[in-house]
Amino acid sequence: MNPKWNGVERRSTLRKKAEAMVGSLSPDQSVAQPSDVLLHELLVHKVELEIQNEELRRAHTDMEEARDRYADLYEFAPIGYFTINRDGLISEINLTGAALLGIDRSKLINRRFSNFITPPDQDRWYRLFINMIKLPNDKKQELGLEIVRADGSVFYAHLDCLRRESLPTSPSLRIALIDISKIKQAEKELRIAAAAFESQEGMFITDANNVILRVNQAFTTITGYSAEDAIGKTPSLLKSGRQDATFYSEMRQSLKTKGAWRGEMWNRRKNGEIFPEWQTITVLKGDDGEVLHYIATLTDITQEKVASEQIEKLAFFDPLTNLPNRRLLKNRLHLALAFSSRNKRRGALLFIDLDNFKLLNDTLGHNIGDLLLQQVAQRLINCIREVDTAARLGGDEFVVMLEDLSESLEEAAIDTEIAGKKLLAALNEPYLLAGHEHRCSASIGATLFYNHSVSEDELLQHVDIAMYQAKHAGRNTLCFFDQAMQSTLTERATLETDLRHALEQNQFKLYYQMQTTHDGKAVGAEVLIRWHHPAHGLISPMAFIPLAEETGLILPIGQWALETACAQLKAWENNPKTKGLRLAVNVSAHQFHQSDFVEQVRTVLEKTAIDPQLLTLELTESVILKDRPDTIAKMQALRINGIRFSLDDFGTGYSSLAYLTQLPLDQIKIDQSFVRNIGIKHNDSVIVQTIIAMANTLAMNVIAEGVETEEQRIFLEQYGCNLCQGYLFSKPVPAEDFEALLS
Ligand code: C2E
Ligand code: MG
Ligand code: MG
Repeated sequence: MNPKWNGVERRSTLRKKAEAMVGSLSPDQSVAQPSDVLLHELLVHKVELEIQNEELRRAHTDMEEARDRYADLYEFAPIGYFTINRDGLISEINLTGAALLGIDRSKLINRRFSNFITPPDQDRWYRLFINMIKLPNDKKQELGLEIVRADGSVFYAHLDCLRRESLPTSPSLRIALIDISKIKQAEKELRIAAAAFESQEGMFITDANNVILRVNQAFTTITGYSAEDAIGKTPSLLKSGRQDATFYSEMRQSLKTKGAWRGEMWNRRKNGEIFPEWQTITVLKGDDGEVLHYIATLTDITQEKVASEQIEKLAFFDPLTNLPNRRLLKNRLHLALAFSSRNKRRGALLFIDLDNFKLLNDTLGHNIGDLLLQQVAQRLINCIREVDTAARLGGDEFVVMLEDLSESLEEAAIDTEIAGKKLLAALNEPYLLAGHEHRCSASIGATLFYNHSVSEDELLQHVDIAMYQAKHAGRNTLCFFDQAMQSTLTERATLETDLRHALEQNQFKLYYQMQTTHDGKAVGAEVLIRWHHPAHGLISPMAFIPLAEETGLILPIGQWALETACAQLKAWENNPKTKGLRLAVNVSAHQFHQSDFVEQVRTVLEKTAIDPQLLTLELTESVILKDRPDTIAKMQALRINGIRFSLDDFGTGYSSLAYLTQLPLDQIKIDQSFVRNIGIKHNDSVIVQTIIAMANTLAMNVIAEGVETEEQRIFLEQYGCNLCQGYLFSKPVPAEDFEALLS
């Protein structure tokens, strides 16, 4: 209502309205009767009253409507309204308030408000409540609390409190309460998101136009760019230039179709350094599918790269020489074969094995051995071209691969031979190993390759065979692979398998070859082993003893021969014909140099209980050349038991007179190669004479082996060799035949 609307004005308007409704009395008032005037007045007044009544009724309806509106606003406001009286009891509450507490409104009146507050928050409520109730103050106060609903669930509430005073004696609090659980939850999530954003991984967020909006601390640590440097720029800030356009277009394609991209890429730090990183990009879209942001995480993988490079190095390179290892060589060989067939060029493999490397390792130690291998590697590299490969297979074995050789077999072979000779010459040069001057030679096996006609493994096998051939050809040489050699080696491999089973299958037999005086009287026999192979028949020891030595099988075989020979001596003890005969058993270097060789022999002596005086052990020069002090000690130890020693094949090795005198030998056996030439080669006859003379001087017994003719026997007798062994008297025969020979 217009406040300027005062009573007087209102009244006159009312009257005018009423008069208008009643109509005027008469146009000329002077002629009207007084009773007409009064009636008219009354009528106007009545109409005036009716208008007033109508207005009052309308005002009343308006008010009721307003009250209802207010009640609706009050009841259904999204806020809980509470009135709490001075005793802390709820005296009024709107429907929303009751709904928030989860109880019917009627049951809430006069309930203590604090009953709905979680215990940890009650103190704070009391402090505020008492402060506000006690002192008149119309300032609004706020409070955050946890409210427990009737069903026990809890929500976080924000309270606006105002003191009201209906009577000075009864103050109350009006409270507006809202549930802010969702806001709290959102805050919490924001905090988590913020913490997650500040993770170990570098992160940046861009807008849809790829402009950087935010970066985290780790981003700065990794890239060197601060938030100020980066914000407002695009990620091309980090571009290293190492990825091409295709890389980026694939990335964009993945973002478009999959909504994400991940992969390795190279980026550039602020200091210019280029580094590898693992990056993921996720597209963040709005409800209607439009791109809002790109979220990128990046991890510096420099360390991982270094580690994986090292692992790769370990996997493909020999750590001692840094040369490619067998694996990488095979990879390259594979590629070389492909190259060869594509380009019609030949290639070659050269297998290099150092001669006597083991000896150097054993005598000067592994460190010196390693130095030699490193220098050898360097020399190989210096000898070859860029396109060639030098690899180390392990131990003292190296392979050089030559590529891009002529298509002509002859030319390629010549070039390979030249390269091989060059390698041999380079490896022959003296080495300086920690102050020691060392000389070393190598044996090289070579093979050529063309197309894929031969597999990689076969090629490696071929050069291995060729190298083996070079070793046998006297070392420091180069040999090309040939098929015949391979067949021999294949046979050898089968023989080796058979040899492994020969002992357990009882395929060995001992033969006995008589040793006599010139008048044909047997003094004993040499024990010679034979192998009765189920398929190949009788195999000579020359064919399998070297193989047995290489494979270590000589140990059980030698042990068996010794035991069997001793058992034979024992058997002969009771036969007057054989009693007192001596047996000579061959002992290989490998066998003799076992640390417990002396124990082994003593055990056999005890087991068979023979007279040790009847046992002679035949050693070759190669046995006594190695580790002389140990050899002497072992011989002396066994001599105490009564065992005798004979030096087999004398004259073929490098025995010097000087150390012959140091060894506790009983007998020297003149090698058959000299005996064979008696009366044929003057020189050999002289050697035989000299050996006999020398043995006599040293007071050693002497025996000649391989005596086949009477002429030889006479010569030997003439020069003072009293004992003979050879076909002239008897071939090696089985024990029963030997016994028969005696009678
Ligand atoms: P070795 O110890 O020098 O044996 C002498 C070899 O000369 C024997 O060959 C023997 O049969 C042969 N022989 C003897 N008299 C004559 C002859 O008048 N003319 C010719 N042409 N040959 C004669 P065998 O039995 O083939 O043995 C060869 C080698 O095998 C032996 O040479 C020995 O080094 C080794 N060996 C044999 N048995 C054993 C064994 O039980 N253990 C070891 N470690 N080596 C053994
Ligand atoms: Mg012998
Ligand atoms: Mg011999």
